[in-house]
Amino acid sequence: MALKALDIYKLLPKKNCKECGDPTCLTFAMKLAGGKADVDLCPYLDDQAKAMLGASTRPPIRLVRIGFGERLIKVGEENVLYRHEKTFYHPPGIVFKVDDTMSPEEIAAVTRRVRDDTLTRVGTELRFNGIAIENTSGSPEAFANAVAAVEKEQAHLPPILIAKNPAAQSAALVHCGTYRPLLHAATAENFRDMCSLAKQHGCPLVIRSATLDGLVQLVRNCIAEGVQDLVLDPRPATLGEYISRSTAIRQLAITRAVPELGYPVYLDAAGTCCQDAALALGITRYASVIVTRPLMPGPAKAALTLRQNIYTDPQKPIQMTPGLYRVGTPDKNAPVLMTVNFSLTFFTLQGYLESSRIPCYMLIVDTEGLSVLTAVAAGKLNEMLVRDALKKFSVEEEVSHRKMIIPGYASPLSGRIEEATGWKVLVGPRDAAEIGDYLHEEWQKEKAQ
Ligand code: SF4
Repeated sequence: MALKALDIYKLLPKKNCKECGDPTCLTFAMKLAGGKADVDLCPYLDDQAKAMLGASTRPPIRLVRIGFGERLIKVGEENVLYRHEKTFYHPPGIVFKVDDTMSPEEIAAVTRRVRDDTLTRVGTELRFNGIAIENTSGSPEAFANAVAAVEKEQAHLPPILIAKNPAAQSAALVHCGTYRPLLHAATAENFRDMCSLAKQHGCPLVIRSATLDGLVQLVRNCIAEGVQDLVLDPRPATLGEYISRSTAIRQLAITRAVPELGYPVYLDAAGTCCQDAALALGITRYASVIVTRPLMPGPAKAALTLRQNIYTDPQKPIQMTPGLYRVGTPDKNAPVLMTVNFSLTFFTLQGYLESSRIPCYMLIVDTEGLSVLTAVAAGKLNEMLVRDALKKFSVEEEVSHRKMIIPGYASPLSGRIEEATGWKVLVGPRDAAEIGDYLHEEWQKEKAQ
């Protein structure tokens, strides 16, 4: 069971010496309880207290790393069942699957796609994460050749090697260098050989069983063989089975009722009746590694967008850096539009401004990532903030006029902004979609005056 802050506090030395970086032992205890500090930061803990605290404050789901370098996939370390309770930390790695019966050219084309494709959304680059190679031929040599075709592209993508036969795994591992591929999968029949390979190459290992008892037993067996970095494949035959098994695994893991289930979950969406639905379920319901056939552009965009939404911290709005942003090449007569630094507001408005084809300036003020309506209601958007932003970003040096367009929802502030800044305030539309018409009609009239 996880300890509460007061239970943790009782185990601390209570010196209030600040050496851990916190002002008191109690604040350190609260951080430990929230999983935001490490017990090693307190130098005065004895070994017994350290062992007790370490076990109870460590995330209930183990962190597992797949691959190496820039495209490394980190999964696990989750603490909650529902995202709104705190946040989900490590987004699932979505991995495109190829077979060793495909030609080297086909395999190379899929590899290049995962290497190069990106989708930029709300200022973040979204990508797929790796390549899974399946030994459908049954031949170790064909499997090794397929892995070599992936590696030849020098994509540095984390590989997943899917083969029941340890001899095929061994042949393929020769081509993976130090890339720590994820090996799929250890079963009750082959776990000793698979553990031996995982240990020899320092790889994480998927264990596969259709029952939770089977997974627990395999975890114990693999740990006894010396392999700690494990991923659980609950082997669902239907989407319903996936939901019930992955939910049970997450519940039993985060309550620490069955610590052996405290590992990331693997889902082969390509092996289900409906890949796109399985992919969406996996993203929302606890899968940490999802294998899929290469996706068409529409489903690819949907999957990346869904994953970004689910794995955004609900307590931290995505923010833009405050500043003066140019849309097109604005001159001294270009309009200045003030708005908040909530990313969704910024990118939505920016898109409509680009479509309007009227070059302009966007003055982005720091409302701690709140939207216009919320920032106005909370007092986070006010005349002082706008005045300071005008000065800080030297807006008066960029334009010859003194007119500013503010969002429609900020209209209650218009008079106070005029008083504080000396600028004329024009109230724009509430809906960003109407900004193009507004600039073509209202701004042009204002400019002519
Ligand atoms: S270092 Fe240890 S004793 Fe000192 S304040 Fe932090 S928790 Fe307390």
